[in-house]
Parts: sequence; C-alpha cells; structure tokens
Amino acid sequence: MKKLIYTMNVCLLVCLMLTGCGTEKTPVSSIPQESAEQTTAVSQTDTIDYLVLVNKENPLPEDWENIVETIHMTNSLGDDVEVEKTAYDAYLELKATLEKEGVFVDLDSARRSVAEQQRIVDEFTETYGEYYVQNYVAVPGYSEHHTGLALDLYLNIDGEDVYLNEDMIMYPDIWDKIHAKLADYGFILRYLDGKEAITGYSYEPWHIRYVNDIAIAKEITEKGITLEEYLNKLPVTDVAPPMDGSTDAITIEIHADGMGQFALAEEGETPEFDPDFPHQDFTVHLSAPEKYVLVAKADDGAKFVKWQKDSEDYSTDAEITVEFSEDANYTAFFENE
Ligand SMILES: [Zn+2]
Repeated sequence: MKKLIYTMNVCLLVCLMLTGCGTEKTPVSSIPQESAEQTTAVSQTDTIDYLVLVNKENPLPEDWENIVETIHMTNSLGDDVEVEKTAYDAYLELKATLEKEGVFVDLDSARRSVAEQQRIVDEFTETYGEYYVQNYVAVPGYSEHHTGLALDLYLNIDGEDVYLNEDMIMYPDIWDKIHAKLADYGFILRYLDGKEAITGYSYEPWHIRYVNDIAIAKEITEKGITLEEYLNKLPVTDVAPPMDGSTDAITIEIHADGMGQFALAEEGETPEFDPDFPHQDFTVHLSAPEKYVLVAKADDGAKFVKWQKDSEDYSTDAEITVEFSEDANYTAFFENE
C-alpha cells in the first residue's frame, strides 16, 4: 500500500505547480485581474465559516464569494496577493513574531477566485490542450485557495527570497520554527506529511490555513490531525484520486475485521504491508495502465482463505494480479485457525 501511495505522491509533487499552490508561478499571473484595489465583498456580516472544508471532494460553498471580505497586498516580488481580511491581520501578527526569531516570511499566494481558476483552465486548454489540463490543473471550485483563508508562504533567507517549492523544501528547520507558531495566531498546517491519502495533497510546509480560533488551531496541531479529521469528514477514498480524472478503480473489502491486511504494488515491485492502514472497505483508484499485485496477509490467529472478485470466487492464492481498466470489487476472506 505504501508503495502505491508513494507512487501517487510523486505524481502529486509534479502536479503541484499547477494544482495545490503554485499556479501563480506560471505565466497565468500575468492575466489581468478584474479589480485589483479594494475589498470585493458586499458584506461579511453573514459571518463566513472559518472551518469551511474545501478539497477535491468538497467545493467552495455557493455564496462564499459574495460574502468574503478580502484585502490586497503586494509582496516583495511585486505580486498582488489577495487575502481574507481577518486572516491577513493574523498573518501580520504571525510574521512579526517570526521576525523576532530571525525568520522572515512573505505571502506568495492566497486567494484565487473560481473565475480566475476557470481562466487558468481556459488559457491552458487553448495553449496545452485538454489532456494537459485534466492532468495538471485544479478543477475550479475545488481549491482551498478560493476561500482566501489558505496562504502560501515563502521565505527570505539572508536577504534573498526563496519561493520555489523545490528550494523551500530544503529548509525544514525554518519551517519547524514557523509551524510551531501557527496555532498561536489561529492557523494550522494544512497538508501534513503522512496524511496525503486524506488531504489529497503532498506535504506542503508553506500552505497554511486560517481557522480564526486559537483553541481549535491548537487542538488540531497538538493532535497532529488534518482539518478533514477534525471535522470528521474523511474522504470517500482512502487513496488520493488520480490526477487524470480517471474513474477506473478497484474496491477492496477485507472481511472479518482485524484479521487480515493487504498490500498493493505495481507489478515487479514488492508490496509492503502497512499495519496502520485501515482494514475496512475502501476504494483504490489506479491511474496508470499497468498491472498491480494485490497481496493479502492474515493477522495472528487467522488464515487467508480466498479472494472474491465481484462475489465470484477468484483465487485461493493470497497474491493476485490486478489489471488496470477494471472497475471491480475484490474481497479477501480470512478465517480463524
Ligand atoms: Zn497553497
């Protein structure tokens, strides 16, 4: 299982430049904005929900863009950055505190409207074609950046701006210092290392999320959980969906709770069992036209009996090969010894 997750993370890392965060580093940033000056909102009196969940399965609430109040700032790179106003005030306090510790940050990107994301999709479709867009550009409406509450930071180290993802990731000690202060100002780290299957994104030390509640931010941080887990809204899929929009999938059920595990790997790779991986039913999306090896392993006190494919007996061997382009249910049966 780990193998598959790892494989998908590699894809996610490659894709991030245009999906989770980095869109502003593309030529798209030259697209003129409709209004670059002041607050765009009508009123925020219908207080926005600072715990709103926007991810690959949950779109931005319909009325959000009518009520969110934002401000515009210019970062050290000269880019216009739009941020929800309460989040911006909290960010300024966080930034000031960090500076006292010799850590210097700036805002790379925060709010991107659904319309902006749609313009990105349109422009990239024209330039690179639909296939590229389906693979590398986030679906409008499903990016946390739409909220204005998601902020991408960049670093200034020894007077030099460090803003490329591949460069920023080289400074884990600096990120540790930043992350340690987030909750004090109502922020959480949004895409945690090891929680990729839940968030749908690779670890992003720079992507922070404002929740406007220090107690909640501290609880989430201390527990080391994601916003999805805090809200008890785990994704329907346990593995990040494919970036190509493919719906090909296999569903795997493990019967007799706690009696077995399974692992999935690309053919030719050794499957690795992950004891922490949930034993309940779940769906795996396969994103490449290859064969996968699925292996069941009985826990102590049990033995593997058979695999069923769509309720037909499939194999009595614990190891089977799963072909891509199948939408099938596989069930592993175990029995007590
Ligand atoms: Zn981001």
